[in-house]
Amino acid sequence: MTKVHNFSAGPGILPQEVLKQASEAVLNFNNLNLSLLEISHRSKDFIAVMEEARSLVKELLELDNNYHVLFLGGGASLQFAMVPYNLLRENGKAAYVNTGVWASKAIKEAKIIGNTEVIASSEDRKFAYIPKGYSIPTDADYLHITSNNTIYGTQIHEFPNSPIPMVCDMSSDIFSRKVDGKKFALIYAGAQKNMGPAGTTMVAVREDILGKVERKMLSMLDYRVHIKGESMYNTPPVYPVYVSMLTMKWLKDNGGIEWIEKINNQKAELLYAEIDRNSMFKGTVEAKEDRSKMNVTFVMNKPELEAEFDKMAKEANLSGLKGHRDVGGYRASIYNALPLESVKVLVDVMKEFENKFA
Ligand SMILES: *Cc1c(COP(=O)(O)O)cnc(C)c1O
Repeated sequence: MTKVHNFSAGPGILPQEVLKQASEAVLNFNNLNLSLLEISHRSKDFIAVMEEARSLVKELLELDNNYHVLFLGGGASLQFAMVPYNLLRENGKAAYVNTGVWASKAIKEAKIIGNTEVIASSEDRKFAYIPKGYSIPTDADYLHITSNNTIYGTQIHEFPNSPIPMVCDMSSDIFSRKVDGKKFALIYAGAQKNMGPAGTTMVAVREDILGKVERKMLSMLDYRVHIKGESMYNTPPVYPVYVSMLTMKWLKDNGGIEWIEKINNQKAELLYAEIDRNSMFKGTVEAKEDRSKMNVTFVMNKPELEAEFDKMAKEANLSGLKGHRDVGGYRASIYNALPLESVKVLVDVMKEFENKFA
């Protein structure tokens, strides 16, 4: 099989070893001579999978027993609704930082549920930077931020010290770097960027922030119902949970966050250095300090040559580089499972392109 260098923004690349194990479990899981897809989620073999997945999240984010970990359906987008539904009181308010399309969608849902204030935004300059130095209202029920803006290639490198419970959408950079998980009251992440396949969303929530809203809660939207059901109130997305568990285990067995953060830094440094050096390209993020180490966005100085570059990229088996329609140009998503080798191949193609066309 030809090796393809997969820079897809999401669903994104998974480790080859994980894909191999995952495919085996489809046919014969745990030597049961049954597929993982055809056994009860209440069987002891699957309960062990769910328990391991939940405990790996705690370990990788360094969360203590005040946190509950859930694997839910509905994508990160359902969390845009569940967060305010569970945390925003009738006479309270929520504070949001708007750093892109996903944050805007979260704000839209929160506004339907209750009083929502956008306390900082980078919308004025097409989300090409991370707002800083804003003040966080101490009377809000929670602060919502997005750690990595998948579409715009910006990332928060220093989290605010929040006097109120801080909620973070970590969909596209979870487990990519060391974060102090305890700074957050709630973390959520759709699996399909950096944690596993599409179909499940991880939620880690601190016990004390729940149960404060007055509304009568729908069961499926109530975190407490899912916590009580140990993330199996209803049939969980068994296969995405299993593959996410394998991916977290792969991370842990290879040296954990410390190991992957080093490689992620090397990949990002190598690629940004080439974007800055190469006369044919430029980055789209205003300040270097806001650049994402997961989604590297760049455009071509002579857009009329894009088709030539695309051809060269294709010949080198580079895949998934097309930028989001809102930004244009290119986006190289360099998630955990993408090897350094793939970035080296991309950088070589960029050099070769410059040699040919500059
Ligand atoms: C992809 C993405 C989402 C949306 O995830 P779904 O699982 O498709 O709902 C939300 N937030 C961020 C930061 C994302 O990158």
